[in-house]
Amino acid sequence: MKALDELTFDNRFARLGDAFSTHVLPEPLDEPRLVVASNAAMALLDLDPAVADTPVFAELFSGHKLWAEAEPRAMVYSGHQFGGYTPQLGDGRGLLLGEVYNEAGEHWDLHLKGAGMTPYSRMGDGRAVLRSSIREFLASEALHALGIPSSRALCVIGSSTPVWREKQERGAMVLRLAHSHIRFGHFEYFYYTKKPEQQAELAEHVLNLHYPECREQPEPYLAMFREIVERNAEMIAKWQAYGFCHGVMNTDNMSILGITFDFGPFAFLDDFDAHFICNHSDHEGRYSFSNQVPIGQWNLSALAQALTPFISVDALKEALGLYLPLYQAHYLDLMRRRLGLTTAEDDDQKLVEQLLKLMQNSGVDYTLFFRRLGDEPAAQAVARLRDDFVDLAGFDAWAEVYTARVARDGDYSEAQRRERMHAVNPLYVLRNYLAQNAIAAAESGDYSEVRRLHEVLSNPFEEQAGMEQYAQRPPDWGKHLEISCSS
Ligand code: AMP
Ligand code: MG
Repeated sequence: MKALDELTFDNRFARLGDAFSTHVLPEPLDEPRLVVASNAAMALLDLDPAVADTPVFAELFSGHKLWAEAEPRAMVYSGHQFGGYTPQLGDGRGLLLGEVYNEAGEHWDLHLKGAGMTPYSRMGDGRAVLRSSIREFLASEALHALGIPSSRALCVIGSSTPVWREKQERGAMVLRLAHSHIRFGHFEYFYYTKKPEQQAELAEHVLNLHYPECREQPEPYLAMFREIVERNAEMIAKWQAYGFCHGVMNTDNMSILGITFDFGPFAFLDDFDAHFICNHSDHEGRYSFSNQVPIGQWNLSALAQALTPFISVDALKEALGLYLPLYQAHYLDLMRRRLGLTTAEDDDQKLVEQLLKLMQNSGVDYTLFFRRLGDEPAAQAVARLRDDFVDLAGFDAWAEVYTARVARDGDYSEAQRRERMHAVNPLYVLRNYLAQNAIAAAESGDYSEVRRLHEVLSNPFEEQAGMEQYAQRPPDWGKHLEISCSS
């Protein structure tokens, strides 16, 4: 266990120099205070969880103090936003404080979001509000606990600094951890500004640090791109299987590591709705729930375009062709497991599709349906769940096929079925209304609800005593919350 002043820095991205990032000091927030910290994330840095309650912790992660070895930098990148190319973006309100490595030899970027203005702030104020910082914190840690690759969050620090959005709010900072903060948009920036040397330097950096095994391949860059395609296919399959809607899948928000990244107006589905749009500025539904799958491919194509100086177009196309089949294989595998199946049959895809159609028509709660399906043997479970459906004949027909399929799957006990299904079907997900309740309390100075919710979501597959209220469908007010993009 380490104290805060015992972290070891490396700062490999900073060493790439001024073409890649600009030195900027964080701008402190007034009266910093700890809102919430993640013990699991602290462990990634070998930090003793007790240090979160020391005053220096809040000072370090609100811009008041900095390690001597830290090298705060704002990164430059660009990206396709809602399908159109924006030539220059960059860290407009976040700073890469530095890169730390732990005793296991893992490197972690420390990124402070809400740290003030940078050369890339454009019209923004460089700040993040408490509401959006809490949402990013809760989502990162909740996705990780579900087994969905994600950036992590160490803590949220609140303050008394006023920040203007639709109304006056308070500034906050979230400390994000990831093995890298390099986005698809980094490659696009150097490609479209026609800086081949720097682009090559960036590609070498990513290959050496994050895909070293690809070095062994005859075409290392192609192997790396293939791996990025594979990781994205798997990540998006998990989003779809668990009902996670990212909301702003611009290429500047897509990580080169295939992790969920840059949380904005994201949501978990309550009622199943393939057409759900969580971002209320997304009028066309470009990033609707079901569109995430083709958009994943669109984004990879944008990255492929930026990699044409290194890889032949034919090879890139071939690698892109892996995306959909890989996505489908991962998705179907997870959905089979969510249904309690251990074997594969040709009609399983149809079984899943028909269920989702029925759920869509009846507005069935996506998370609770699967959880309850595993509570009992298949025949009893479907008999109980039947009441949630409007199209009873349709559900009965599906249930008959499902129970016959389960019977063919294998002969296992009720307890085995429950254990296996509960291990993949969470009881608790970050429903918007739960986040909203925690945010409302935090905005009035009570952080206990954020902390409790974080605890519950850290263990989403295990029923926790006295936490029934976190495993409920939303009340009417919580069903259609409009999540603002201005975070
Ligand atoms: P996002 O939609 O959060 O991914 O942000 C898109 C771009 O806008 C990124 O370059 C951000 O750094 C920048 N940005 C977002 N909010 C602010 C803000 N309040 N101040 C400065 N830049 C911002
Ligand atoms: Mg972003």
